[in-house]
Amino acid sequence: MPAIVQTAYDIGDHVECDFCSRHFDAKPAAAEIGGIVFETKAACPDCAPRIEDSARRYHETKFIRARARAGETFRDFCLRIRASNMVVVSSGENIGELIETIKTGGLINRPTANRRDEPI
Ligand SMILES: [Zn+2]
Repeated sequence: MPAIVQTAYDIGDHVECDFCSRHFDAKPAAAEIGGIVFETKAACPDCAPRIEDSARRYHETKFIRARARAGETFRDFCLRIRASNMVVVSSGENIGELIETIKTGGLINRPTANRRDEPI
């Protein structure tokens, strides 16, 4: 059996919308207010209304996990709810998925199908 190699990646304080990929690292975008987390994805102030409308239409509002506080920027909101800027990846895992997950609050909502300790 091959050895399991684990590597830690620092994703820093980069913030981007998981729906439109717009970056919120510098003004004026960094000063925009609002946003939500739908499942494990962060929706920026521009995308949030569309995502919320869709969630209502498909009776999926329970998947809205978090909302920016009144007056809170999308950038501050995302950095506040992140568990950490570090992600530890085992060999063979999907690095892009793990980074996306930790950007939106950690590994708490990781899909079962991607866990190695459960049968698929
Ligand atoms: Zn967006």
